[in-house]
Amino acid sequence: MSELQSFGGDTDRRSWLRAMTRGIGHRCPQCGRGRLFKSYVKTNESCPSCGLDLSGHRADDAPPYLTIIIVGHVMIPLALAVKQVFDPPLTLQFAIWLPAMLLATWLLLPASKGAMVGLQWANRMHGFAGPGADPDADA
Ligand SMILES: [Zn+2]
Repeated sequence: MSELQSFGGDTDRRSWLRAMTRGIGHRCPQCGRGRLFKSYVKTNESCPSCGLDLSGHRADDAPPYLTIIIVGHVMIPLALAVKQVFDPPLTLQFAIWLPAMLLATWLLLPASKGAMVGLQWANRMHGFAGPGADPDADA
């Protein structure tokens, strides 16, 4: 018996890359057609297309943490580089970087949550472990 067969008979392989890509695009990790979110970052209870139960995900604080890491590691060095090279007035820097950071955060937060939900589905984590699995179990 392979390791996959020991997970309650659900032996299909799930591509984590495809699931995360679908999640980044705000789509169901299983079918890629149904909308993942019913509002900004609130997931649907189930996929409107394939019926996958989405309520068992545990994205928790990972999406905002990932968003902060990405925005901080991309936007701050860019702002510092622009300051070093062009030395624009402070008001111009605020006028450019604050909206840019807000826009990047606004776009990245649901995308990173979708990626987390996709990753959890692909790895059968939490509520995606299968029927009868304990959604609160971390094993
Ligand atoms: Zn679906």
